[in-house]
Amino acid sequence: MREKSIAVFGVGCLGSISVLEFARAGVGNLRLMDHDFVDPATMGRWPLGLIEAGRYKVHAISEFLNSNYPSTQVTPVLHRIGGVRDCSNSDSDNSVIQNFVSDVSLIFDATAEIGVQHYLSTLARDLEIPYIAVSGTYGAWGGKVLSIIPDKTVGCWMCYRYACNDGTIQEPPSDPQGNVQPQGCGEVTFTGAGFDMAEISLSGVRTAISTLCNQHRDGYPSTPWDVLTMAFRDDSGQLIVPKFTDYRLERHPECSLCHN
Ligand SMILES: [Zn+2]
Repeated sequence: MREKSIAVFGVGCLGSISVLEFARAGVGNLRLMDHDFVDPATMGRWPLGLIEAGRYKVHAISEFLNSNYPSTQVTPVLHRIGGVRDCSNSDSDNSVIQNFVSDVSLIFDATAEIGVQHYLSTLARDLEIPYIAVSGTYGAWGGKVLSIIPDKTVGCWMCYRYACNDGTIQEPPSDPQGNVQPQGCGEVTFTGAGFDMAEISLSGVRTAISTLCNQHRDGYPSTPWDVLTMAFRDDSGQLIVPKFTDYRLERHPECSLCHN
């Protein structure tokens, strides 16, 4: 793990838990990209507590990792993909991101934004490195882990979207009242317990560490899934015994990327 490097996009509730686990697992190099600051209102699902309120998440978590896991090299990058930018900054979005991912072993996408997922999965494919994305549903009633690994996963990100849309990959349950628009904030956020979100993060970390071990004889075993869905509730919101469903990602007949 010491020679491995992971580019992590998003250190919100899913990404922050994940990077702590990557450091504990001994990953040698972590690059963290995020644009947001630590909001005391969402302290229940961010790991470092009130002392970091108001700071940028990438700076707070990098300092924590540098102090406590010194054998993991951490590079924080404060950047918002596709965000409004200072025109005096001449670096394009693309060049910032290309630089960020250069020579990494794996892209870990915890942004849970569909446009960013499309962009980063394409980037990973071009670089011929594994792409792993984690996301939760509204209310954290469930979640998904997607992994697209060169020479292992048959389908692509677009195949995944087609499979989600036609029901081949079933959407985990989601709270119909789960999104909220905080007062004074331009972005919709969501409700959901930190411990349910952590469960999704840990499944993503398990998938990523397994991928980095790459079937090494003494390493962590390889995952038998490309897509993992998790349900913690039923459709009415009652708790169930957590249900994991695994899928292989096949080429979708309608995917023009895989059929031209
Ligand atoms: Zn495809």
